[in-house]
Amino acid sequence: MGSDPERIPGFIYLTPRARALTASSASAIMPRNPSIAPEGAFFHNGKNMVRAIALLSGGLDSMLAIRVMQQQGVEVEALHFTSTFTNPGSLDISVTAAARGARLLGVRLTTVEFTKEMLELVRHPRHGHGKNLNPCIDCHTAMLKRAAEYMREFGAQFVITGEVLGQRPMSQHRDALNLIAKEAGIPGLILRPLSAKLLDPTIPETEGLIDREKLLDISGRSRKTQIAQAKLLGITEYPAPAGGCLLTDEGFCKKLQDLLDHGDFDLDDVNLLKFGRHYRPADGVKVVIGRDNRDNEAIQTLARADDILLHTVDIPGPLTLIRGKWSKETVRMAADLTARYSQGRDQRRVSVSVQRHGEPDDRVVDATPCDLEKYKQYLIT
Ligand code: SF4
Repeated sequence: MGSDPERIPGFIYLTPRARALTASSASAIMPRNPSIAPEGAFFHNGKNMVRAIALLSGGLDSMLAIRVMQQQGVEVEALHFTSTFTNPGSLDISVTAAARGARLLGVRLTTVEFTKEMLELVRHPRHGHGKNLNPCIDCHTAMLKRAAEYMREFGAQFVITGEVLGQRPMSQHRDALNLIAKEAGIPGLILRPLSAKLLDPTIPETEGLIDREKLLDISGRSRKTQIAQAKLLGITEYPAPAGGCLLTDEGFCKKLQDLLDHGDFDLDDVNLLKFGRHYRPADGVKVVIGRDNRDNEAIQTLARADDILLHTVDIPGPLTLIRGKWSKETVRMAADLTARYSQGRDQRRVSVSVQRHGEPDDRVVDATPCDLEKYKQYLIT
């Protein structure tokens, strides 16, 4: 080693294969936040830092995976995939969590809107659905394909994820992890730092870009080890596990399946599934009734020009929306249900306003709070 004039004591050097992998890094790259750059970084020819693209959800696992890489001097660029399915309400809370995580870790974050791709995978999953409509293997594969594009674009050498072996039944067992890496087109280039010691060595490990001994061997669903490791590595802030993906939620998936079964729809229709009780009285028409103020506000926001809105006149009650090819019977049903779910449910008659969304004039009808059994057959549950 001492005879090689290029070698500097204290640095780990790359094999020819690893040099080829890093060849796309054209110039020296320094950490954006030097305060978090650990000692002993890996360098290519004494110039280029090793770079990785990380999938960052903003949760503990993906943050820890990034920190483990930073401990080895890897410069990380983070990618966050967001969709309506990973944001249970109307706010983009997953983006907020990821942005916070990126700031704490000192990494640059790129956000990718992924709802359309996920919807396509829900319709045509190559590897089927999980317990509900979650096409997890295809979804992970699609995200990693996208990450592979960023990897090339940013001159990174590999991709990292916070996946943990055995944590999720469909997509995080050994065969699924291998399949996903292969189908994403970058076998050997997806490093899962939290479980790496339990998995086959990846190219960055075999080529000496990464010290395998410093990676972790976490498996299973318990989060105890991650919490302990996070503490050790100075991650003191991270969000509590969020609501997760709605494609794993049975109630939401029944409503989504109904939408898929009834032809044309757009993203507004998908967003609306997150709020209210949904009735399907006939093909081509739906009635959505708010359950609380949050639902009512969301329904108001998501209403379109052709929708009909109903609400009780003098007493508190839900906001109800009719979308599609409505008939007199649909309006009667929607008015009676609006009355039934209002605080006037014990009255014989309740005044309900019926109005085309955005138009100034409404019509007030006398509605009868009905027995819920009467329309139970149309309720999507
Ligand atoms: S849980 Fe949802 S977001 Fe996660 S991989 Fe499965 S389908 Fe995709």
